[in-house]
Amino acid sequence: MVVMIAGGGIGGLSLAVALARQGLTSVVIEQAAAIDEVGAGIQIGPNATRVLRGWGLGEALDRVAVTPVAAEVRDAATGRLLVANRLGPAAQGRWGDSYLTITRAALQGLLLAAAQTSGRVEIRLGHSVIGATSDGGRAGAALSNGETLSGEALIGCDGLHSVMQGAVLTASPPRFTRQTAWRGLARMPTEGETRVQVWTGPSRHFVRYPVGPGLVNMVGVVEARADEVESWTAMGQGADLAAAFADWPEPVRATIAAVDRPWRSALHDRAPLTCWSRGRISLLGDAAHPMLPFLAQGAAMAIEDAEVLARLLGAGGAVDAALAAYEHARLPRTAKVQAWASRNATLFHLPPLVSTGVFGAARLLDRVRSVEPEARFDWLYGWTP
Ligand SMILES: Cc1cc2nc3c(=O)[nH]c(=O)nc-3n(C[C@H](O)[C@H](O)[C@H](O)COP(=O)(O)OP(=O)(O)OC[C@H]3O[C@@H](n4cnc5c(N)ncnc54)[C@H](O)[C@@H]3O)c2cc1C
Repeated sequence: MVVMIAGGGIGGLSLAVALARQGLTSVVIEQAAAIDEVGAGIQIGPNATRVLRGWGLGEALDRVAVTPVAAEVRDAATGRLLVANRLGPAAQGRWGDSYLTITRAALQGLLLAAAQTSGRVEIRLGHSVIGATSDGGRAGAALSNGETLSGEALIGCDGLHSVMQGAVLTASPPRFTRQTAWRGLARMPTEGETRVQVWTGPSRHFVRYPVGPGLVNMVGVVEARADEVESWTAMGQGADLAAAFADWPEPVRATIAAVDRPWRSALHDRAPLTCWSRGRISLLGDAAHPMLPFLAQGAAMAIEDAEVLARLLGAGGAVDAALAAYEHARLPRTAKVQAWASRNATLFHLPPLVSTGVFGAARLLDRVRSVEPEARFDWLYGWTP
């Protein structure tokens, strides 16, 4: 069986690796001239770490990633700690695998190397998939160079502005969420600093975490104008970023000051799609379920998708039935994650008094129920394929 994969981002490469583990062959068609992750850092929840470990990437991950000991949320105006979730050994104990932070380049590099060394993945660079067909027991991919490829299935891993989506249902543009994200890597001391830190405030929030020795990832989110342009690679001005967080706590300002040049992009998401598959064509990752990054789970969902889809295709039944079963298994979970990510957009941008009340009420509820705050994430991080 040959599976054609449109897009060589984290989702497409994950699928190629997962298929190879099932003994299946794939062709990854990537529009860029090189597989080269642009961006800063990424958090990998235990639900995704478990899958990556299953693909044999555990040792390499443990070598290059950071294992934060906690995730803390503070009110930016008062400095008050709103909630602290224990990670590190507590994550391992509670959810059975580690919560990690890593540079995107390192994660993409591990996936690419695993795909290349499997001997089952062909990577075609520099061509876009511009059309897709599913008929006569085959799937077809029309490429921008005029070539047509044929295989048993075609999976659209082509991200937020998916062309492949149009082959499955009536394509619609993603929704601008009126939020702008600033992203960057700060070169600054990280000794003894192994926490994911979030500061919240009206209309904005700021996240920072170490991704390696002397390297801190930052994401600053600001509610934005209606006319912002989405581009993963657009650069912003450091002075604008500094101005957006000028009166925020010192660790925020120090991190911003240590960023060389930040990226700036408008954030989009989508309401859950009604379906992902038609015949031998399906979608995966952001092409199927783009979400706000406020639960740090977009890539994790793509990694989960890849494992579930590869197992179903590897079982050897009818391809269209496997794709339907994949959609059935994945759509409700990813829709719930999309909803939680959107809910955090409200939670992280409340005025100080309100956020103190909301987080205080949640703490009280936990005490009354005798549960730890981390229990809130059991459904998410405790997932197994
Ligand atoms: C600020 C921010 C922070 C985030 N932090 C986290 C985090 O901490 N943890 C987490 O799990 N997720 C996080 N995410 C989400 C995560 O980045 C995405 O969900 C993930 O990268 C999606 O991967 P993908 O492969 O589906 O799509 P993409 O990364 O968009 O990859 C799509 C690929 O397809 C290629 N392509 C597009 N069209 C075509 C075509 N027609 N033909 C061929 N190739 C094509 C593109 O060039 C690209 O390489 C964050 C997102 C943002 C915006």
